[in-house]
Amino acid sequence: MALIHRLSKRHSPPPAAGTRDKRMMWNNRVLRNCHYLSGLLAILLTVAPGAATARSICYGNTSYGRLENGVQLPLSGENFVAYGKLPVMAGRTYVHSKVHTIVLAAYKSLATSHPGKMFIYGETGLINGGKFKPHKTHQNGLSVDFLVPVFDAEGQPSRLPTNVVNKYGYTIDFDSSGQYGDYRIDFDTLGAHLVALHKAAQENGVSLWRVIFAPDLQDKLYATQYGDYIKKHILIPKKRSWVRHDEHYHVDFRVKCRR
Ligand SMILES: [Zn+2]
Repeated sequence: MALIHRLSKRHSPPPAAGTRDKRMMWNNRVLRNCHYLSGLLAILLTVAPGAATARSICYGNTSYGRLENGVQLPLSGENFVAYGKLPVMAGRTYVHSKVHTIVLAAYKSLATSHPGKMFIYGETGLINGGKFKPHKTHQNGLSVDFLVPVFDAEGQPSRLPTNVVNKYGYTIDFDSSGQYGDYRIDFDTLGAHLVALHKAAQENGVSLWRVIFAPDLQDKLYATQYGDYIKKHILIPKKRSWVRHDEHYHVDFRVKCRR
């Protein structure tokens, strides 16, 4: 997997000079590199799927740090899938082994408590952490982006469409009522996911540091059956972040790292 890292580092993208923040998330160079790498990396991933075999060591913090023995989240599972095969192949879905365990434990509990619901995770970080453009954090294996769970036009559980054209979901814009075209944010399931992550973190001796989610959508999350639990246990800053987190929520885990 060191080869993947070397390749992905060498081809890691510079920040795009787009006109909108979300356009910065994925530029054409990322996509070109993904295509370039896909053939070789597909073979490597086939023989080295993302199993948490080693204990990771994180250094520094999410904004300035690195990771040793990073492990890759699996491409898919019973009730979840990655945001895209190409960014996975480009090595953008590595996390700390503790986070790997927590994320999968939360999905497992949701498969039982919320059968039929489907989840997508997004960008996490590189195998050795470090700068992860265009993100400001995601540097030490403790940050994970999750795309919001949605209902379709018929009110059925669905998944956001993620593809090259919409930068794997990152350019999707929900309005302040939680609607994007035919898709509506499933706030209840989002709340259940946050609670499941928090409980799984606690069971693994760590916790959530914070969740970043668009301030104008937070009231709808607090209005769900999970609102009280979330208010009590999970920090979701009210302050606007550098990009509006409406199509995804960013979770930072609190794991003890070395300096
Ligand atoms: Zn993020």
